[in-house]
Order: sequence, then C-alpha cells, then structure tokens
Amino acid sequence: MSVGRIAYMPSPGKIELREYELPQVAAGDLLIEVLASGICGSDVHMFADEHPLKSLALGHEMVGRIVDPTTRPYDTAGVPLAAGDRVTVSYFQACMACQPCARGEVEMCLHAYDNWISSPDEAPHFNGMHGTHYYVRRTQALFRVPDEVPTLVAATANCALAQVTAGVDRAGVATGDAVVVLGAGGLGLYCTAICRERGATVVVVDAVPSRLELARSFGASHTVSLQDYPDAQARVAAVRELTGGGADTAFELAGVPAAVQEAISMARIGGQVIEIGNIMPGLVTPIDVGDITRRKVSVLPVIRYRPDHLQEAIRFLQRNIGAVPFEKLVDATYPFDQVEVALQDSQNRRVARAILTLGAE
Ligand SMILES: [Zn+2]
Ligand SMILES: [Zn+2]
Repeated sequence: MSVGRIAYMPSPGKIELREYELPQVAAGDLLIEVLASGICGSDVHMFADEHPLKSLALGHEMVGRIVDPTTRPYDTAGVPLAAGDRVTVSYFQACMACQPCARGEVEMCLHAYDNWISSPDEAPHFNGMHGTHYYVRRTQALFRVPDEVPTLVAATANCALAQVTAGVDRAGVATGDAVVVLGAGGLGLYCTAICRERGATVVVVDAVPSRLELARSFGASHTVSLQDYPDAQARVAAVRELTGGGADTAFELAGVPAAVQEAISMARIGGQVIEIGNIMPGLVTPIDVGDITRRKVSVLPVIRYRPDHLQEAIRFLQRNIGAVPFEKLVDATYPFDQVEVALQDSQNRRVARAILTLGAE
C-alpha cells in the first residue's frame, strides 16, 4: 500500500478523511501503521470547539506497528526494534533547542505541537494519530509495547496513563499516603490504580455511579458520590473524615474550574493538589487564597510528561495486566472510517471511551 488516510479537522465539528502518498522517511524518523487510536476527551473538546486548537490532523492516542525500522532501529530506551513490533509514541515533541528543553523540562518544549499542527498537505502528511499511518519524528519518544499488553489496553498509554504517571511522580505518592481523586474518567481511574499500587489509600469523588463502581475495581478504598453529597462542603467533610483530616495529595482530574477549590479544601494541612484536569484558557473560579496560605497547601500543575513517564506507563500496564480491569475503560470500538460517528457519540456521551481500530483485535 503506497497511500494512507488521516482524519483532518479543517474547523471544529468537521472531519475530512484525506488520502496522501506515504512519505519518504528521514533518518531518525519512523513511519508506523496505526493499530488502534483512542478518542480522548481533548479530541472531543477540539471537535466541539472547546479547545485552543481549531484545525489539525486529529488524534493523539495510539498504538502502532513498525513496518521498517531501518531509519530508527532502537526505541527511546535502546531496545532494538523489528518489523511487526508494536510501539507507543509521545504525542508531542521535544526540540532540545529551546529554553525549557535546555532546562530539562522537555515536556514544556516551546515547539511541543509544531509537528502535530503543521498542514498535512505538506510531507510527511501523517501528523495526527487518527489515521492509517503516523509519522514519528526523531524528537518524539517511542517505546516498544511488551507482547503481554493488549493493543486496546496500550492505546491510551501515551495520553491519559502517562499524564497521571507524571502527576503521581510529581506528587511523590508513597506507601501509607491518603489520596483523593476528583473525577473518575480515564485519568482518575488510572490515577487510582497507580496510587493503590504505590500503597496509598484512595478516595474517589465523581457523579456517575457506574464510574464509581469502576473506581472500586481499579483500587479505590472509598467512593464519594455527588448524588449522595450534592453540596461541596459536605463532600469536603466526607473526604476529610475518610482521609483522617485531609488528603496528603488531592488529584484534580475532573476538569471543571470549581473542582480546584474543592481539591484544595480536601487536602490536609501541609498537603498538596496536583492540577491536571483544567487546561482550557479563560475559565476562572473563586479561590480562597488565604486558606492556601494558612493551611500551607501546595498547588502543583502538571501538563504532558517526560519520556520516562511514558516508559513507566507501559511498565505499569505490564505489571498489572490481570490485576486491574484495564479493558473496562473502553466501552466502544469503531472502524477508522467511522471516526466522525465516534467523535459525535463521545460528544453526546453515548460512549465514555471510544477507540478506532485498524489492525487491532
Ligand atoms: Zn488525550
Ligand atoms: Zn524545545
């Protein structure tokens, strides 16, 4: 096959399936065949015109298969790559030539999305992960996926799972910690399982009963339902009670501005909030700043991740296959042609986590 297709979004709400010739691959780069590609909440926000990115090749979660590793024979950990190997790829790049990269904050690269948002009309065309192929730059981290990790399970590793891996790392969650997770979507469920593996007690807060049930199967010791506690102050009191006076770490993964204050209130004296959920510019919310000072609560933001976090995400899956029901995260699969339907169904909340399947079982 000498041509491939991608899902291009010329403007929010529109999808064009575009066909391009497969490009020449430069040394250090790699062209891979997409096996499975996840519809993430961010894709849905872009499609619904609720995101700063307005026009691009959609898709940033994927597992792909190597056709020819000649141009990049090793993954980022130095593991030799062979034709047919499955790989996960960081969806952004680190140029290693800007100030954040020079400081070692490679996840804050000023050019993180340059490859993604460049026009697919110019080679190498395959800039988005919703496509039959994806072009990996040498500036992107890439790891081989171990055989025991199923493709559909690995498909969300390079966004949701690596993201919370970075958050848990920044928090330094340790054995015996009390953690509260606000939001039991993909991020929240992964966060629950990682903190549980680290030996923490995890309380999960969400509105949807089925998600809270899933949170318990991912390792939550307690759940607090917004249906049982519609009042934020009552939820804070419940979480403080369950965590013995407040959480060592509160993870804000709900993605609504009001959840930030709630997370701050749920943290203990001297505790911390890891802020991941809110990324939209321009949304404001009242914060009791004096409370942050008086109770010495640290609010630490985390966006994107370092290459070692993606590597650890894959290792986490490998260690916990069979112990954590990862497969329950995905409730619908669609063929690649149906990408627009998958986005619409996700937007209308007909499905929670959709995956486009190409060669995946
Ligand atoms: Zn994502
Ligand atoms: Zn950079």
